[in-house]
Amino acid sequence: MVEKVILAAPRGFCAGVVRAIDIVKIALEIYPKPVYVRKEIVHNRHVVEELRGKGAVFVDELEDVPEGKTVIFSAHGVSPQVKEHARQRRLKVIDATCPLVTKVHLEAARYASRGYTIVLIGHHGHDEVVGTMGVARESMVLVTCVEDVETLEISDPRRVAYLTQTTLSLEDTRDIIRALRAKYPAIQGPPSEDICYATQNRQLAVHELARRAQLILVVGSQNSSNSNRLVEEAMKAGARSHLIDDVDCIEEAWLEGIGRLGVTSGASAPDILVEQVVDHFRRRGAEVEELVTRRESVQFALPDNLLVDLTPLASDTGTPA
Ligand code: SF4
Repeated sequence: MVEKVILAAPRGFCAGVVRAIDIVKIALEIYPKPVYVRKEIVHNRHVVEELRGKGAVFVDELEDVPEGKTVIFSAHGVSPQVKEHARQRRLKVIDATCPLVTKVHLEAARYASRGYTIVLIGHHGHDEVVGTMGVARESMVLVTCVEDVETLEISDPRRVAYLTQTTLSLEDTRDIIRALRAKYPAIQGPPSEDICYATQNRQLAVHELARRAQLILVVGSQNSSNSNRLVEEAMKAGARSHLIDDVDCIEEAWLEGIGRLGVTSGASAPDILVEQVVDHFRRRGAEVEELVTRRESVQFALPDNLLVDLTPLASDTGTPA
């Protein structure tokens, strides 16, 4: 029987996800509906369903957005080709790309303009990777593991740089960077890690949790990269772990012989889903404690064009702009 639930902190929404969801909610308030969103605004089923219920229309490609309408780009970012396509279709674009993903795009553009080959460490087909690869399509190669580095062939090993997806495993990424440095001693990298603060903090917290809990439940959707990494990190640290969309996904068989249960959530999972999981165990007599490994205070500003459209409305209601 689960006697204690240990809740990781930090967990759940990061600053980029809060910003992206706020952007859609504000857009739904101030622009004529429907407001279109290209791809899932963040990789979480509950978030997408809630916003769909408020009037957002999620599309896979810009062809599905009627000319002249408003479209929001997701937190994972888009390639310059997508931006150009939106311009040609005269769409009003609100860009919810996380500023930390934009930073990687800028680094890619800078290396490409200096004639470097860029090795992007990331996962095939992930929305963020697709967007980043599009920034410098001709200059980029993708590696996903150390084995990929062994087979890599780069024509000028003196001009090579690496960048990473923001939501990778810290440990796996360091192994890949080590292999790259061994093979290409002149390789350059970003001044600080591209793996974002939220991914790092949640992974470090899950390692601490794994020292205290036998099983760790990670609340997050199956297509959420950072949530999947939390499950992997928990298992690497010696705990059992499962990714669950919500409380209904918990299987009784997992809990057999478990006295201390850890709970955390990916950067795109709403905290209400975590509270439901915790309440489930509280009702069954478990004590709940929070394990705080770090405090977060990161916030990102809204996109300029959204702020401009919002300002007259704020003045109309007497709210300071
Ligand atoms: Fe931005 Fe990191 Fe959140 Fe992704 S996980 S939206 S990069 S803060």
